[in-house]
Amino acid sequence: MELRKSINLKNFIRTIPDYPKKGIQFRDITTLIADPVGLRAAVDELVWPFLKENFDYVVGIEARGFILGGAIAHELGKGFIPIRKKGKLPGETISKTYELEYGEDVVEIHTDALSHGERVLLVDDLIATGGTAIAGLELLRETGADVIAACFVVDLPDLGGSEKLRALDVKVHTLVEYEGD
Ligand code: AMP
Repeated sequence: MELRKSINLKNFIRTIPDYPKKGIQFRDITTLIADPVGLRAAVDELVWPFLKENFDYVVGIEARGFILGGAIAHELGKGFIPIRKKGKLPGETISKTYELEYGEDVVEIHTDALSHGERVLLVDDLIATGGTAIAGLELLRETGADVIAACFVVDLPDLGGSEKLRALDVKVHTLVEYEGD
């Protein structure tokens, strides 16, 4: 009997149309993580493929990647390292600028957070175009770390991000998919 299949995570994720701008269907995971069953099911399903994987740290991308990444790190008995938006980390940082649909954004990590060859699992709530995750990947590779895999609750496959990440030699694990953007 597959008990895990009886929970449909999509029932916990709320879609808000036209946020943050017209035409975007915002997949809101705040309703998923507010529900104790939803949160546990999502974290359990995210960690499942990595229970026996050899790696050193979980890295989460601000902000929703912190919530899931912290829980995943705790569950797998690993430490957690944040990738943050520009200017938020107090120590010396390295930065990566990446393109958004309009303009650009910057993500940062502490220079001394990782050492060469350390193996990490990258976490965020959702992958769309892959811009954010690939900026995180490039930042991590600059530290010398080895990104063994990335996981997300939601994949928007039509936007191509998960495919791009796989093409960059990262295993990608996602839980639910939505068509379109
Ligand atoms: P991208 O860089 O295009 O892969 O976008 C991923 C980042 O933007 C993630 O941190 C998501 O939280 C957020 N994001 C992008 N599109 C959506 C969407 N339709 N619903 C919710 N969050 C989104």
